[in-house]
Amino acid sequence: MSTPVFENHYATLPAQFYTRLNPIPVASPALIKVNDALAQQMGLSSDWLRSDDGVAMLAGNHVPEGAAPLAQVYAGHQFGGWSPRLGDGRANLLGEVRGPDGQLWDIQLKGSGPTPYSRMGDGRAWLGPVLREYIVSEAMHALGVPTTRALAAVGTGETVLREAPFPGAILTRVAPSHIRVGTFQYFAAQQDHDALEALLNFAIARHYPELDQNDALGFLSAVTAAQAKLVAQWMGLGFIHGVMNTDNTHIGGITIDYGPCAFMDAYHSAMVFSSIDQFGRYAYQAQPEILVWNLAQLASSLLPQIDPDTHTAVKAAQEVLQGFGTAYTDAWKRVFFAKIGLHDGRTEDVALVQDLLLRMAENQADFTLTFRAMATGGPARDQFVDPTRFDDWAKDWHARLDGDVQTLMQTANPAFIPRNHRIEEAIQAAVQGDFAPFERLIHVLETPYTDQPDHSDLQTAPTKQQIVRQTFCGT
Ligand code: AMP
Ligand code: MG
Repeated sequence: MSTPVFENHYATLPAQFYTRLNPIPVASPALIKVNDALAQQMGLSSDWLRSDDGVAMLAGNHVPEGAAPLAQVYAGHQFGGWSPRLGDGRANLLGEVRGPDGQLWDIQLKGSGPTPYSRMGDGRAWLGPVLREYIVSEAMHALGVPTTRALAAVGTGETVLREAPFPGAILTRVAPSHIRVGTFQYFAAQQDHDALEALLNFAIARHYPELDQNDALGFLSAVTAAQAKLVAQWMGLGFIHGVMNTDNTHIGGITIDYGPCAFMDAYHSAMVFSSIDQFGRYAYQAQPEILVWNLAQLASSLLPQIDPDTHTAVKAAQEVLQGFGTAYTDAWKRVFFAKIGLHDGRTEDVALVQDLLLRMAENQADFTLTFRAMATGGPARDQFVDPTRFDDWAKDWHARLDGDVQTLMQTANPAFIPRNHRIEEAIQAAVQGDFAPFERLIHVLETPYTDQPDHSDLQTAPTKQQIVRQTFCGT
């Protein structure tokens, strides 16, 4: 039962990178959940995390010896509009710990109280978004998608005022770093070249150690490749991030900042869930394009690091960004060819996938259930308002199939996703003090590619009454 050993690497960066401050203590910490498997992977003792000191740390009431907590500063484009200073307005980085495999993990408390970056916010989080992020980020991990993780959730015993008073909570978010495109933008906007260089080298060491220090172009290229792959994975799962602002775009190519995100039920390419995304800027199909836009902001922040001659730097950066299209298309093909069981997909097969998606959209077919049924030999056609629209497509599809496709398809098409209506149910129960639905959802989503007949109610699509059409930031 040992206490975590903190290393404070981000805190060694120059003072303009953060504000040193402790989390603000809460009234009455109560443990909701510890992620045992993750704690073990990080070399942390679950028993200690569950101890009084552990829970006090997770609530921000006790700063362990050796930790040097801080709030990180960053900037960002929010819905295309420039915000020169955002930063951790409701989060606190306690420091990093090193896992037995040598990997460094940021330990961050989200909902830990006001900071100099809180603007109008109260620095807190309520139970709903905390459980939502816990469920969805852990599901993403189990689905094989790079993401920040959830180490723990605690209740604060305080009330948080949103549309109504709600119980307060804190999520312990962990990740290899919390560096965003917006972190680079912050220093670029200030023309602080020394800080940019320090940030670049920190980010390279943390995420792309195979690169040489100061290799800004290599870094841009690596981020572009990682993000292209990430968004292709989102597309393959019907995941809509909802707030792809540059401050929510991670330079390690991992999913970060789960707000009004959602997995689609019925497929539609223009699907939007976020209540604040009125114009569909971050709709399902818009995600790759938005990502390029965000990467262009990273590129422009890195220009002085790429080459002292602006013209040369722009040209080199443009070449990298032009590579995004191919990188994304390749990643998309890998994802979707696997989904329909093609080991040796060819360019012509893109049309086959697109034809299926079009028919799904026209027939309100459930995205996850359609592909899962195809993978398990189930009646995929039942997902279609007009099942013959699937039958017609399936003729072409069967003609293309070769050999054993079930293994490939079953590992590419999950049985379970965190469906909106189930998340909402789990949150509503938790607000009443019943965490059983939350626990069950977490448990089932640990093995999303495995059929779990006892939990088939978590697999099915929502009924008309159950459909959740909008999701909220809850901030
Ligand atoms: P997000 O929507 O989580 O990406 O947050 C955007 C910005 O708003 C970040 O700088 C957050 O730290 C800040 N923020 C969001 N919610 C709050 C809150 N309740 N209190 C203070 N700052 C917040
Ligand atoms: Mg954010």
